[in-house]
Amino acid sequence: TPSDSRHWLDELNPEQRAAVCHCIGEGGAPPSGPLLVIAGAGTGKTGTLAHRVANLVIHGTDPSRILLLTFSRRAADEMGRRVRRILARAAADHAWLAQVQLPWSGTFHAVGARLLRDFAGRIGLDAGFTIHDREDSADLMNLARHEAGLSARERRFPLKNTCLAIYSAAVNARKPLHEVLRASFPWCLEWEDELKRLFRAYVEAKQTQQVLDYDDLLLYWAHMVADPALAAELGGLFDHILVDEYQDTNPLQAAILLAMKPDGRGLAVVGDDAQSIYAFRGATVRNILDFPAQFDPPAERIVLNRNYRSTRPILEAANAVIAMAGEGFAKNLWTAREDGGRPRLVSVRDDADQVGFIVAEVLARREQGMPLRQQAVLFRAASHSARLEMELTRRNIPFVKFGGLKFLEAAHVKDVLALLRWLENPRDRVSGFRVLQLLAGIGPKTAAKVLDNVCAAHDGCALLAEQPVPEAAREAWREFAVLAETLSAAQAPWPAAFEAACTWYLAQMPRLYEDATVRQGDIEQLQRIAATYPGRRAFLTELTLDPPNATSDEAGIPLRDEDYLILSTMHSAKGQEWRAVTVLNAVDGCIPSDMATGAEAEIDEERRLLYVAMTRARDSLDLVVPQRFYVTQQQGLGDRHVYAGRSRFIPNRLLPCFEQLSWPEPPPELRGTPESRQAAIDLAAKMRGMWD
Ligand code: ATP
Ligand code: MG
Repeated sequence: TPSDSRHWLDELNPEQRAAVCHCIGEGGAPPSGPLLVIAGAGTGKTGTLAHRVANLVIHGTDPSRILLLTFSRRAADEMGRRVRRILARAAADHAWLAQVQLPWSGTFHAVGARLLRDFAGRIGLDAGFTIHDREDSADLMNLARHEAGLSARERRFPLKNTCLAIYSAAVNARKPLHEVLRASFPWCLEWEDELKRLFRAYVEAKQTQQVLDYDDLLLYWAHMVADPALAAELGGLFDHILVDEYQDTNPLQAAILLAMKPDGRGLAVVGDDAQSIYAFRGATVRNILDFPAQFDPPAERIVLNRNYRSTRPILEAANAVIAMAGEGFAKNLWTAREDGGRPRLVSVRDDADQVGFIVAEVLARREQGMPLRQQAVLFRAASHSARLEMELTRRNIPFVKFGGLKFLEAAHVKDVLALLRWLENPRDRVSGFRVLQLLAGIGPKTAAKVLDNVCAAHDGCALLAEQPVPEAAREAWREFAVLAETLSAAQAPWPAAFEAACTWYLAQMPRLYEDATVRQGDIEQLQRIAATYPGRRAFLTELTLDPPNATSDEAGIPLRDEDYLILSTMHSAKGQEWRAVTVLNAVDGCIPSDMATGAEAEIDEERRLLYVAMTRARDSLDLVVPQRFYVTQQQGLGDRHVYAGRSRFIPNRLLPCFEQLSWPEPPPELRGTPESRQAAIDLAAKMRGMWD
């Protein structure tokens, strides 16, 4: 270690420093052997990775030869900021560091998209491919299903989203269809042959239309590196590959890494097996557990045990919850933060009281000087926050929401993006189908007929003018055909071309949506975002892979100078921390979700999810338990009240970890002792349990 950089390294504990300095030689020294940091929440894994990147750069590694894989673009941006900060401090001694580029960073999918654009020709793929998001993919799956004669109406064949989920699970887990069906979709086993037929049709449709779905970004990447020569070339692009949240990678991603770095040199991964929460999407905790033994000699394994994030009572409660998951997941975490009270278990009557409690507490904390943005409310499903959002809006309390429906999933925003995508690639049937029906007088039949002609042609948009359309649509059609031909040209000026497309679309909007004026703002927002991208392709790729939030600025970052409360699904809260965290609906049916089938593995994943949520808290943690709450029925049965008990992940024997209270406080005569209140709750649960 050069003495002049000691001041920033000194802040790390010995284990962190070992990870940051693992096998880094001076100057041209060979890249390090593989490294695994496996450690509990808040122990500084992500920070250690950022320090390691900075240390590599300080020791002369070219940043463009470092690849940093994170779980979301937000995480990549945050990591970039951390690296910058460390480098800025070190720049006091090495002025050149102030100027250096940041490394390549992004999600596996985003990096895959970038590599595929560059190397498409080498594997026979057209570099002009379009990327479909999940909804587009489901629509294409639906088209394939109709074409394969497997329409849902006649028979009980699984719906498009189920088909896509099965397809995706098989691809990401690299498992035969039969195995995936047996393990996760047993009710679809009878359709195995039909599903195979369907997936063949789906893949064929993607090929003729030159579209890639999310899974393809990994699948084609894996295909590239299956060729040893190409694997060596791609692996050779990077001296170092670092991965955060490795516990949530799937077998396909692990295979890609191994193929790029077969001897593990330059590979460093960090993660926490107790926080693996994406098994439902094909991730497997085996990746992190089996990592060291893949290499010879095995990867160096470093464990971090000191949690720097949370107070001791919070950490103890979280540890107690995860300890019930059994051996393996429990961690020996400790913290020097002795201050602070126990996390609170707050009993409220219903959803309305829950919202009342949360808003009151949030405002009280702000009053005491804790900005809103250091407070977060976390929930299992995006829909759980609906009532809270309404109340926050009514009371003018700004918030941002992560997870759930995104800005880009709104129908009108999708319209514009489909238009842009289709102009880029007229063979993309799903986008074309959506776009053509935006025109006055064009229905699904005409749209399908036109697409048959256009998709087959090389220069589709040029043919639009001569397509047979109903008399009533003639005028609008002619106008659209001219627009499409001008804008589809690869040289169409950016972002002017996009603005022209938006102008056309804005003119259609009043006919399409009753609330067009409200939606107009989003289109204008989209134009502002577009202007920050160098071109159409970069814009489309980025937005499809990592859509910004509705309530954020162009870069997808929440507006800076305004204070806002954070609402987030537990999944999207991964890796982050806030001073105050409130867990909404800490009840059975929400966490664990009643969507979980009850299989032990699924229940355990839900438990780890609650652990992730609890370990986001630095100073204060509240778990709110409404005694009844609304659920919105999916099958059109209307809303109904459900009575639920406290989450099974907090059984009675864990109660000493929590401070219990009721809100609003009951009148004195009903208050009783904590024990008597608990007895009443237990009795109520027992009486309900008779009917389970
Ligand atoms: P998670 O498992 O939730 O992803 P993590 O292990 O990645 O957590 P970080 O987010 O890197 O942990 O760090 C957690 C907190 O601890 C941060 O606020 C960080 O600044 C702080 N921290 C980490 N290491 C140290 C240290 N050596 N000294 C002081 N603070 C530290
Ligand atoms: Mg982290």
